[in-house]
Amino acid sequence: MIIFTHHTGEPHGILGAQMAATFLQQKLSIPSIVVGIERTFSKDRLLRFIGEYYAREKKVVAFSHLCGRKDLIQLVHELKQEGFVTILGGPQARQDYEGEPEADSRSYRFRGLKSFIDIGFQGPVDGFRSEHLSMRNRLIEHPWTKKIFLEVDWSNLYTFLDTLKKLEVRLGQVLNAIGCPYASKQRTVILPPPVNLREKGVRDLKVRSQGCIFCDVSRDKSFHGPVESDRVIGQIEGLPEFDGRKIPFELIDEYPIGSLGKLLEEVGSQKIRLSQINLVCRVDDINAHASDLPEILSQAQKQDVRIMFASIGFESFSDRLLQYFCKGITLADIVECVETLRRLKDRFGSHFLYRRDEGANHGFIRPTPWDDGETMQEMDRNIFLHRFFEDILPEHSTPLIIHHASYLGDWIREIESTTDITFGRDGTWIEWWNPFF
Ligand code: SF4
Repeated sequence: MIIFTHHTGEPHGILGAQMAATFLQQKLSIPSIVVGIERTFSKDRLLRFIGEYYAREKKVVAFSHLCGRKDLIQLVHELKQEGFVTILGGPQARQDYEGEPEADSRSYRFRGLKSFIDIGFQGPVDGFRSEHLSMRNRLIEHPWTKKIFLEVDWSNLYTFLDTLKKLEVRLGQVLNAIGCPYASKQRTVILPPPVNLREKGVRDLKVRSQGCIFCDVSRDKSFHGPVESDRVIGQIEGLPEFDGRKIPFELIDEYPIGSLGKLLEEVGSQKIRLSQINLVCRVDDINAHASDLPEILSQAQKQDVRIMFASIGFESFSDRLLQYFCKGITLADIVECVETLRRLKDRFGSHFLYRRDEGANHGFIRPTPWDDGETMQEMDRNIFLHRFFEDILPEHSTPLIIHHASYLGDWIREIESTTDITFGRDGTWIEWWNPFF
């Protein structure tokens, strides 16, 4: 079976899809590979490759991590018409299979993929069984637990641009926590209308969120706890090596610092040689552990391991927008965090990486529906005052994306239900910048 997924073409692994292919192969004896489709792929050539590959395989194809790409959705559709059994797994599988609420009576809403997906599969792959393959028009749900299957065959990944290429993974991923603890935090926020609708009589609305309001995984997975340390070490042992060391990997955990010191100790005592650990984490984790970081980094330095804060979720430099995002941090927290990072850099040099020019890409969301002269000025002032342009600001900001299943999706639908305004849909995304009156 091929599991198709979005891929940038960079040499990074795709943990969920690769783990799923490993499970299908090892536990269900279904030969499986992952093919990451790059954005500018040649469709004719891909269809030709699929035809050749499936000349000797059962016509069952799976998709995961569509990343909002309409070209991938169109591909599922076409393969279904060609007689393939189609499976959708990965993040947001349930919501993307089912579509938006009231899509039958409100035709502009996303209707879901159920008309051309045979099997929607929500949850970790360990719940998948061979007998599921004979089901049609079914959404199968399997709960997340801490005991999920965690083995990965890192050699099962290919990319497709205009031909199939085996990808030597140079950046892996290791799961340290299942879901995000912050995603279990209930919050409510009063959101004003998008600025271009201020004159249209749209009222402020109270919106409930769990975790960050734009997050498209918080609702999907929530939080199920840390992975036991021996299972984390097991994953690290399974990573490929390059130049006698494990390849750099991203430690998947929004709050990784509390367990990082122990992880380094354990790795050291087992004589596993690491090269680099990338952290994708929250500002409040760095601030809460600012006094522990020097000791952790000294340990990393002794083991000649680089620690990189590869992506920190700053998201905005305006207190008002941080509040609308339900980010749970303020600008003062961000300033404190960046000061800590700069101090650590002075002390630990090349063993500690966090800067844009060292490869980090921190979260900065702009434009948003609430950008006005005031927020823009506030943001530019803070960027200048705290010199975020030197090391923190990414080369490009990321526009606010509203996935239909995020809590901001609820906000948009509430505006639609209480006014005559509707918003455009683009695949699984809601175009907040594109209202119709
Ligand atoms: S954006 Fe990150 S920190 Fe926020 S809820 Fe989602 S996973 Fe957690």
